[in-house]
Amino acid sequence: MNKMTRLVSGRVLHAQCSACGAAFSVFQFSGDSDCHTLGLVSLSSAEGHDIAVGEMLAHELEMPSQRDGILSCESRINSDLSRHDLTVNVFVRTEGETVSHSGERFGAFLKRYQRPTAIYRCTECNAEEARVVEEESVDRFLAQGGNIWVSGNLELVGEIKE
Ligand SMILES: [Zn+2]
Repeated sequence: MNKMTRLVSGRVLHAQCSACGAAFSVFQFSGDSDCHTLGLVSLSSAEGHDIAVGEMLAHELEMPSQRDGILSCESRINSDLSRHDLTVNVFVRTEGETVSHSGERFGAFLKRYQRPTAIYRCTECNAEEARVVEEESVDRFLAQGGNIWVSGNLELVGEIKE
């Protein structure tokens, strides 16, 4: 692994669990392809408006069990940041994607189009039922008192406009 700083950008998602009601924030990395975001992890704090971003190491990505890799990464990043309350966010699925029928007028498609909703594993109860209810820019999140902790050779940059 090289030691070059990796620039990351993205948005902040706010998710709420429909099983236990817990609310937490997730960092959603943006990138045009998987290689821009491969191995990047977002972590939620159990305490307030904190999120953290970090990277899984090669040996963690290669662990036979994905869960072991995530747990190893989670404990490493917590100790790196001198914390104990950060939980890696696990993306589960998207829901509600509406596909266009061929022949349908574009205007009609737009009318019934709903943005797909991302579902994450709940950081409190582990149910795979935490739906994204809101999203905002990093700048807005920070301006409203949010904190984003950065672990390792990552540098958070504003939204990359291309
Ligand atoms: Zn929950």
